[in-house]
Amino acid sequence: MTTSTAATATAAAPPATRPYQSYVYAYPHKTAYRPLEEHPAGRRPLSELWAAERKDALSLYIHIPFCEVRCGFCNLFTRIGAPKELTTRYLDALDRQATTVRDALGDVDPVRFAAAAFGGGTPTFLTAAELERLCDIAEKRMGADLRSVPLSVETSPSTATADRLAVLAERGATRVSIGVQSFVDAEARAAVRPQRRADVEGALGRIRDAGIPVLNIDLIYGIDGQTEVTWRASLDAALAWRPEELYLYPLYVRPLTGLGRLGAATPPGAQAAADAAWDDQRLRLYRAGRDHLLAEGYEQVSMRMFRRTGAPHEGPDDYACQTDGMIGLGCGARSYTSFLHYSFDYAVEMREIRGIIDAFTTAEDFSRAEVGRYVDDGEARRRHLLQSLLQAEGLRCAEYRARFGTDPYEDFPSELHRFAARGWLAGAGNDGLLRLSPEGLAHSDALGPELFSPAVRAAMAAYEVK
Ligand code: SF4
Repeated sequence: MTTSTAATATAAAPPATRPYQSYVYAYPHKTAYRPLEEHPAGRRPLSELWAAERKDALSLYIHIPFCEVRCGFCNLFTRIGAPKELTTRYLDALDRQATTVRDALGDVDPVRFAAAAFGGGTPTFLTAAELERLCDIAEKRMGADLRSVPLSVETSPSTATADRLAVLAERGATRVSIGVQSFVDAEARAAVRPQRRADVEGALGRIRDAGIPVLNIDLIYGIDGQTEVTWRASLDAALAWRPEELYLYPLYVRPLTGLGRLGAATPPGAQAAADAAWDDQRLRLYRAGRDHLLAEGYEQVSMRMFRRTGAPHEGPDDYACQTDGMIGLGCGARSYTSFLHYSFDYAVEMREIRGIIDAFTTAEDFSRAEVGRYVDDGEARRRHLLQSLLQAEGLRCAEYRARFGTDPYEDFPSELHRFAARGWLAGAGNDGLLRLSPEGLAHSDALGPELFSPAVRAAMAAYEVK
């Protein structure tokens, strides 16, 4: 155990990068994936990829890439205005894909799903009848017992209707996550998410009436014009519902999003000052939000996630997924074996997204991985470190050693000493935990990307956003 070297590192801290680089919710990022037909191993059959994997505690994720409106900050894989015939075609394709994937998992080893999630997009863009069909696909095609495992579903204020929520509750949903972003109408407009407070409150009431055990509310800080006072007002409006979970997201403006296009008008000379002021605003609001939630009886799980003390754990902890074994269905979903992460093509721009969804709905053959990235031993170590370190409870060194036979300080000395020199690590690690300090957690979106390998970094840099 050499973690105490962190505390003794005295090298001058290199200048820290800007605090908001990117949200690391999965490693490697999808922009590091490539068409597998270009890989020497080619597009391998799923049956071969999953043959030697453990399959007794899989996660199932089904992606519904449809929304009513496109929020200005959103770079997720989703399209707006899907006609009914398209959602039907999409569910038909999901059904075909699920049948093929379940066949590929085989029956030699026990196949069991330990958790399920419907994400998007907005899964509740689907009608109540379509949600029934979606649950049938998960249960009858994949064999997931939705009523006996945690089932998390994302929703939005305008689609969280009583009939849809009743279906989800009856089929076993244990967690509903709603993107509110701000309870201040003007801020919602500034983030290009037009919604009325009254509609948000109505949706929250319906979710509580449905009796689903865990409510998560997503809020965003760093919106143009947002102040400590208005941020506190949004937090208090959320807290009035006593949500079991709250996610506080810093606002990002990324290429090809609605806000990204608006921002193109900023004069280049003013950019650096504007960036610094915005970083400062986001850090201030983050700290104010964190302190308020801690004072209100919430525990910090990660930079973004807060859980009410004593609330049940019904969803993924900030998508911590060092563990492998994820089956993703739908054209924006990722799947993880222990050595390959794969998905379909990815895009942000609406025309490209439409093309990918259309191709998915007409596909007949789902038996091979199309786009992905192999995860070797070095990347597996990085992934474990990264995704554990970004959780407030930190990395258990004994677990790391049991899995890889080394100590994280042997594998990542320069990175960890650099973080320690910046004051981002807590304590000396003598408790067998490698944990971030409060400032380290605040800088999660700078620290995470610093742990990317040179190869992943290069692949991401070479990716052309489309
Ligand atoms: S943020 Fe959520 S609701 Fe808004 S466009 Fe993106 S996926 Fe849809």
